[in-house]
Amino acid sequence: MKATHYGTCQICNNKQKAPNGLLSKHGYTVDYGFFNGVCHGAEHLPFEKDRTVLGEVIQDFQAHIESKIETRNKVEKGELPVLVRIYLVPENNGFGQGKYHWIEYCGLENGKPLIRADKLPSGKVPMTARLDEDGIWHTRVQYYGDDTPLSNYLYALDQEILRNIRHLRGMKDRYNSWEEKELEPVTTRLMKETSV
Ligand SMILES: [Zn+2]
Repeated sequence: MKATHYGTCQICNNKQKAPNGLLSKHGYTVDYGFFNGVCHGAEHLPFEKDRTVLGEVIQDFQAHIESKIETRNKVEKGELPVLVRIYLVPENNGFGQGKYHWIEYCGLENGKPLIRADKLPSGKVPMTARLDEDGIWHTRVQYYGDDTPLSNYLYALDQEILRNIRHLRGMKDRYNSWEEKELEPVTTRLMKETSV
């Protein structure tokens, strides 16, 4: 059926055509690590008429943020292994011989981050040293501290969590200030566009 009205999406706040009163299928354009692919508001009533889906998504998004914060705190305490990227130089080689490697940060010892080193009896070594698959020791270049790659990782995660919280706040504001409105007819909009 041809759409006669536009409606505002409860979730992404964009205008969409609303055939049979429900919003057409559309994607979510901003990725907050939660809103991927088809928008949760698609094929639901527009915000002018209903806020139910928004309320549900707020709850789910809140839970998503809480679990992300929990993960973040576990990583910081060394309770959850995580990949970090660091610059390593084979021992007895020059600075230029180094390469970035993804390594697994897996815990703390006396406040120092540890990485996985499967060939050692302890299974773990400080970040400043690494034994590779061929038995060659690598040293990390000494212009940042042992905890820098981990701090950078946590910083990026914190930024994402802050973006999530700001977005959630915006959604809650929209939910709380909701009131029923009329839908915008498709013809009005076309006339506006052609009369310019
Ligand atoms: Zn949407």
